[in-house]
Amino acid sequence: MKSINKYFPKSKMIPIDKFIANALYDKNYGYYSKKIPLGKDGDFITAPEISFLFSEMLALWVVSFWEHLDKPKIFNIIELGPGSGRMCSTLIKVFRKFPEFFSCINIFLYEKSKILKKLQKKNLYGEKLKWINDFKNIKSGPVIFLGNEFFDALPIKQYKKVNNTLYEKYVKLGSNSEVKTFLKKINLKTIKELKKFNLIKNQSFIEFPEQGIKELNLITTAIKRLNGGLLLIDYGFLKQKSKDTLQSVKNHKKNELFNNVGDADITSLVNFDLLKNYFKRKMLKTNNVVTQEFFLKKMGIINRAEILSVGMNFKEKSEIFYRLQRLLNPLQMGRLFKVIFAFKSKNKFSTGFI
Ligand code: SAH
Repeated sequence: MKSINKYFPKSKMIPIDKFIANALYDKNYGYYSKKIPLGKDGDFITAPEISFLFSEMLALWVVSFWEHLDKPKIFNIIELGPGSGRMCSTLIKVFRKFPEFFSCINIFLYEKSKILKKLQKKNLYGEKLKWINDFKNIKSGPVIFLGNEFFDALPIKQYKKVNNTLYEKYVKLGSNSEVKTFLKKINLKTIKELKKFNLIKNQSFIEFPEQGIKELNLITTAIKRLNGGLLLIDYGFLKQKSKDTLQSVKNHKKNELFNNVGDADITSLVNFDLLKNYFKRKMLKTNNVVTQEFFLKKMGIINRAEILSVGMNFKEKSEIFYRLQRLLNPLQMGRLFKVIFAFKSKNKFSTGFI
């Protein structure tokens, strides 16, 4: 059997999001079930893997949000898709410096990949930490959800408009194991759903994060029940431009979507306008979406790097600032990555956003 057949276990014709889900998360053959995707030896690198300064800024932001909520005695921090656990380990280091805060917190890790969960269990420990599958298990205290490059890893649906009719993109496995895409007409219910998000008008190509919305429904339900918010940082855009944004990456290089299936990561760009729209409909407040550069600078990342580098030798200093540049440079992660915060709270919380 050709290896690609494994990703069509039940049907030879599946919507593209189902194909991505099988390629990434199939229990035996999925990319995230087989290998550790992050880091130098993996396929891509994320901000917490580049510099611990990124996670330090997030930690300070979380402590300020807790203060903003009048220092609740129970405060739950949930990291969505924690990868290697590197961000969480820095968060804990910083949190320890605030003993009153530290005594109030529980930390939960929400992770789907078994292999990454194992790695997290190796890298992280402590009585504050728990892995969680169901947010209903959090019974009291506000919740703050943090997701770095979580949303872009969730499968998306794609639609194309031809002669004013909307079709969904499907993937088909042929008898010689060749993979092709084809279009299938969509029903009224789907059209209604896309209209709700204002996605159809003036667009000939549409992407819709159905799986992402399901995850957000679980998250926003918890926020509404317990108070708190959700901070997402991701590679994305503000205005939809009829573009196919699916990308596959292997060994830090671009890969064809249907090549190396199960051995390459597949992501898409996040539509922040859609997220804003979604949160509004859920009656959550949002701040203006800002760039990673803006957010990290507002949180004082440059100052922190300068203080740290006092007393360092030239090589160490260069290393710190080289890594900082990768996070902040508009041509690297600085502008492409954006930050959105949605929350339920009586007062505005705009730290990092203005
Ligand atoms: N936040 C990390 C890793 C980003 S990679 C970092 O910045 O380095 C995406 C992460 O999300 C991985 O840990 C992946 O296994 C996890 N993930 C993807 N889909 C998920 C889902 N539906 N539920 C929980 N975790 C998921």
